Amino acid sequence: MSDPADRPRLAAVIGWPIGHSLSPAIHRFWAEREGVNAYYVPLAVEPSYEAFARACDALAGLGFAGCNVTLPHKEDALAYAVRASRRAAAAGAANMLTFGPDGAEADNSDIPGFAQALREALGETAPGGKAVVLGAGGAARAVVLALAEAGYGPILVANRSPQKAAQVASLAAAGEAVPWSERAKVLSGAKALVNATSLGMAGAPPLDIALDALPDDAVVADLVYAPLETDLLRRARARGLAAADGLSMLMHQAAFGYRAWLGREAKVDGALRAALEAAIARRRRP
Ligand code: NAP
Repeated sequence: MSDPADRPRLAAVIGWPIGHSLSPAIHRFWAEREGVNAYYVPLAVEPSYEAFARACDALAGLGFAGCNVTLPHKEDALAYAVRASRRAAAAGAANMLTFGPDGAEADNSDIPGFAQALREALGETAPGGKAVVLGAGGAARAVVLALAEAGYGPILVANRSPQKAAQVASLAAAGEAVPWSERAKVLSGAKALVNATSLGMAGAPPLDIALDALPDDAVVADLVYAPLETDLLRRARARGLAAADGLSMLMHQAAFGYRAWLGREAKVDGALRAALEAAIARRRRP
């Protein structure tokens, strides 16, 4: 009989839809590089708490170590967990569940993932100062908390729906909601601009914002990663500004799950980026 210790390590990503997710490609890349016997499975789970809880119960029962969670289940993940990290509780959303004998533990690696992407883009430039966040969905929550932890303030949040802007701004002591129509005006003196809306994504309307008011030492981050080089990043780079793309955050947030569930060496480097860029290019072929 084969040794049960040889059984593959298992993890999943749950969302609706899920076919577009790059997470399986990221985890496969790391497992192959490390020679780890591991599977990371994309699961489409319909948008209800009951369906989500059923799926998680089944995964835990089958011996899965954990799962990533994406739209629309990030709040369900927090509700399902028996314990949550400080940062997941602060965000009110989790993108990671780790299954243990007494239940699931929730975490939010979007927060340190975004912080790492920002550090990479900034290089030697000191973080801090005024920041402007566009959007007030789940991703914007992680961005606001990461910016606050990195010492940015004031953190201005502009969103099409103003009530959501106020909610997300209130996550940080230095947060402040501003009208969506003021988004270009408030860039004056800002050291960071982050697009956390879905604007600029393939198939979505463009993000309409002039970057003229940003100072030369500002960093511009776009969470959208399809396309990788968004119009916002192209214009930021044309101005000589530091820039972080959505793939950078995606790779860094994934490292936390890989280390917790599947292996050890979750290095974010040029080889991983090249593999993912190739995967994105393959998808865009007719
Ligand atoms: P979400 O919760 O659905 O939020 C979407 C946001 O986009 C909301 O603020 C929404 O404004 C805004 N929006 C949508 N259509 C708009 C329009 N026509 N005009 C103005 N605003 C509009 O989604 P999410 O999870 O926060 O994700 C947001 C983006 O981040 C997506 O592109 C997603 O792919 C990306 N993301 C990237 C990573 C990464 O690792 N790179 C991680 C998470 C998310 P309203 O509130 O007014 O509807």
